[in-house]
Amino acid sequence: MKENQDITLMSGSVQGGKVSRRGFLKGSALAGLSLGVAGTGLVGCAPKQQAGDELADTGEGATSAVGYQYEAETAEGEWHHSACSRNCFDTCMIMSKVVDGRLVQVCGDKNNPYTAGGLCVKTQNYVDYVYREDRILYPMKRTGKKGPGCTFERISWDEAIQTITDTWKQIIAENGGEAITWFRYQGNQGAIHRRCLEPLFFKMGATYHEASMCNNGYVFSLPYTTGSITVMRAEDIANKDLYISWSHNPAAGSLHTMKFIKEMHKAGGKIAVVNPVRVPECEWADLHVQLLPGTDGAFALGVAKYLMDAGKIDEQFIAEWSIGYEDYARSAAEWTADKVAAECAIPAEQVGQFAELLWENRENACLKTGLQLGRRNNGGMSHISIKMLTGLIGHPECYFNMTSSGGYGVNTAANLDMFTETVPSESSDASTIRNYSSPALGKVLTGVNYGEGHDFATNPIRSIMIFGGNPMVSNPNQNLVREGLEREDLFTVVHDIFVTPTVEYADIVLPAPTFFEYEEFNGGYGHNYDCFNEKVIEPLGECKDNLELCNLLGQAMGYNDAVFNRTYDDMRALFLDGKDYTYDELVKNGWYDVAPKTWEAQLEEGFGTPSKKFQFACDELEADHGTRTVIYTPDPESASQAPELFAKYPLYLVSPSAKEFLNGVFGNMEDNNLLFGESYVFLNEADAQARGISDGDEVTVFNDRGSLSRKARIVEGVMAPGTACTYKSTWSTVTGVENVNCVTTDSQADFGRGVAFQSCLVEIAKA
Ligand code: SF4
Repeated sequence: MKENQDITLMSGSVQGGKVSRRGFLKGSALAGLSLGVAGTGLVGCAPKQQAGDELADTGEGATSAVGYQYEAETAEGEWHHSACSRNCFDTCMIMSKVVDGRLVQVCGDKNNPYTAGGLCVKTQNYVDYVYREDRILYPMKRTGKKGPGCTFERISWDEAIQTITDTWKQIIAENGGEAITWFRYQGNQGAIHRRCLEPLFFKMGATYHEASMCNNGYVFSLPYTTGSITVMRAEDIANKDLYISWSHNPAAGSLHTMKFIKEMHKAGGKIAVVNPVRVPECEWADLHVQLLPGTDGAFALGVAKYLMDAGKIDEQFIAEWSIGYEDYARSAAEWTADKVAAECAIPAEQVGQFAELLWENRENACLKTGLQLGRRNNGGMSHISIKMLTGLIGHPECYFNMTSSGGYGVNTAANLDMFTETVPSESSDASTIRNYSSPALGKVLTGVNYGEGHDFATNPIRSIMIFGGNPMVSNPNQNLVREGLEREDLFTVVHDIFVTPTVEYADIVLPAPTFFEYEEFNGGYGHNYDCFNEKVIEPLGECKDNLELCNLLGQAMGYNDAVFNRTYDDMRALFLDGKDYTYDELVKNGWYDVAPKTWEAQLEEGFGTPSKKFQFACDELEADHGTRTVIYTPDPESASQAPELFAKYPLYLVSPSAKEFLNGVFGNMEDNNLLFGESYVFLNEADAQARGISDGDEVTVFNDRGSLSRKARIVEGVMAPGTACTYKSTWSTVTGVENVNCVTTDSQADFGRGVAFQSCLVEIAKA
């Protein structure tokens, strides 16, 4: 390919000489605006025909690359393997084309069965993403106020490192290491980089940050129930007789599984959806249980009672492979269909309908739970309630949340521990030092003493380093986070790719590379492939990755430990330790199939629990959570638990992912925002009518924590009465309206100190 064509490609006007990407985007966005659906991901927002089109755009796009993919075959240049390190279920395997050291094309790897040649709409402009004008390319220091209107000036890396480490040394001398902390999430990083800065903070004795905003409800429920026994591949869904989607919306959050679901549906498989929102899968569903947010546990117990009463339980499995059935049966006994109907606000007959579907198809079912399920105050127990059903029917292997690839240590903790194991400090044990989990960031920065071991009033945090994270978008109780970051006496360092809403509060800004600019390894958690991410281009400007940053900062702090002098060879060795493949085998295709165990092999080992059995009840659950078996506890933000609050704020608000954004990233991309359209809040017709709200009205969504400006979207069937929905991940600096986390709670979920975004009562009024 000629150079001028490459430049044209980078500008996005030509794709491999075939398709106009901007033309596609413009067309799609306009179509979406006219239908009012393309940016929403909510299929019920449109008539059925249009809703089907929306599904085609999202589901099939994963393989057919509807308009926004480059044609790899027609292009010249060097192709390299990349992996989309986005803390996304799909962790796509990417082919990246480079000409003269410049990235010019990006497409899905057609050779991988899961990615199958397609990327998602979030990443339709990855080349532009790398070369955007708003990339941070040099270290900077703040010259004006913190927050909107902030100004920075370029400084050298030497000055940046000196300023940071001088400040930290002074804080440690005056207040000890605990006055320093960090916040990280995954951002742009995979297995190597997302945690490799942490030894620095362990060494300083800093206040420990436990990243807990992802899937703690599921992960922390495992030891009480089954341990990790995931034996299913996402690809297996295509051959199932029943697919249950529970609190999950793969069209937005795990696009590549849509093709397997659709394949199954076309072959005559049944689909049941349990979700407060009418998600795209509902177009294919035989049953949609549109329950009130947070009542999943009650519904699961009702299904259990129905199956027990009908004798539709696997007595042999229960006798041979489980413990605690009697406790569980006693807990389920009170959950009659009528009681479930009242609690969940659903028709009573749906309990039996769901139970019959599950029982009839038990030999070949997939029960998939999504991440939002655990992100509420009773989320961990909800996971247990649902998992119990799989033991009742004698098929625990049908439960599918994350794969067992080891990407997040579900089966193998090795990847997650590889950094803490090498930390040269006795303070690396989080239990011995002051610590906080992610949702509490606002409290931590504003000096709140929120319980034993969490006194941030006596010895306040004086410095925080944020990397791979964008808490001014992704954290709950946003206004409190802002109040903390606004503190003039807080020394804030942010390492990022773009000027995010969080960077606006930094004292020192450090330029971070995209994953195209360094070597990385990934383990998928929506698929079973370990992925290799080649360093495809040199870092832009003066960007430095986390490994280099850790060495620079550690050495400047005067630490001589080997962990502050690590090389890429060291990191490769750490990642590959214990793997059953070599570096060359991984690099050859860019991915390696980490096959899950068979169910038979898993049963030979027994379950990953203390009893080696499926645990309907256990002492450990009682010791940690005060009950031997699963119980349903209504969410603290609900009508029954907080009647006074409910009287003020009578709508249950959920905030799922939009298909255009992902956690804190992509919010600055014009094309993604164009496709997303306006920031809507979806309301039920009756709720809108009661408030005098019409479709398209400007409204305010509010509670004691904050308020949001939104446009009302009222479409039959999308939301049940008493519920509302607006999307997360938008950047207020781009949309001009508040991010949903201005109203979400920073209370901790029941398991793993997780986040409770979905426990959120609000009121909505015309603006
Ligand atoms: S964001 Fe997720 S679905 Fe989209 S390309 Fe990246 S890994 Fe794939």
